Order: sequence, then C-alpha cells, then structure tokens
Amino acid sequence: MPIYDFECSDCGERFEALVLRNNTASCPKCNSQKLEQQISMFAVDSEATRQAHISIARKKNAKIQRDKSIAEHEQAINHYD
Ligand SMILES: [Zn+2]
Repeated sequence: MPIYDFECSDCGERFEALVLRNNTASCPKCNSQKLEQQISMFAVDSEATRQAHISIARKKNAKIQRDKSIAEHEQAINHYD
C-alpha cells in the first residue's frame, strides 16, 4: 500500500498518509494541502538504500585518501627539509 510520509509546509506537522490515485493528502492538523513528501525509510527499496550507503562509503574513503595524501605530502616536505 502506498503510504507516504509528509511534512506540512504550513504548520510543520509530520504525518503518514495513504495516497491513492487521484487522491490528494491533506494535513490532519490544519487541512493544508501544501505538503512536502518525505522519504520514508520503510518505503525506500533496498536497492536505493544500498546505493545510498555505497555513496556514503565512497565519500568516506575519498576523505581518508585525501588525508593520507596530505600526510604523505607533509612527510615528503619534512624529508627534504
Ligand atoms: Zn498543517
């Protein structure tokens, strides 16, 4: 069933709503239809989650690599000093 997380743009209320075709969700608190659809961790399929984790891991590795090369560079400077 298509259950989505929403955040109301008007009052900031966060809620889950079952959205059927041609059926617009509205805020249960203020009845606004200005809603931001949130990415629900339960709704995200495993492939997308996996890709996101890979991307985070790659960013971490990139930082480690950069720190390492800076350290190596500093070592080289100290060596020739
Ligand atoms: Zn609202």
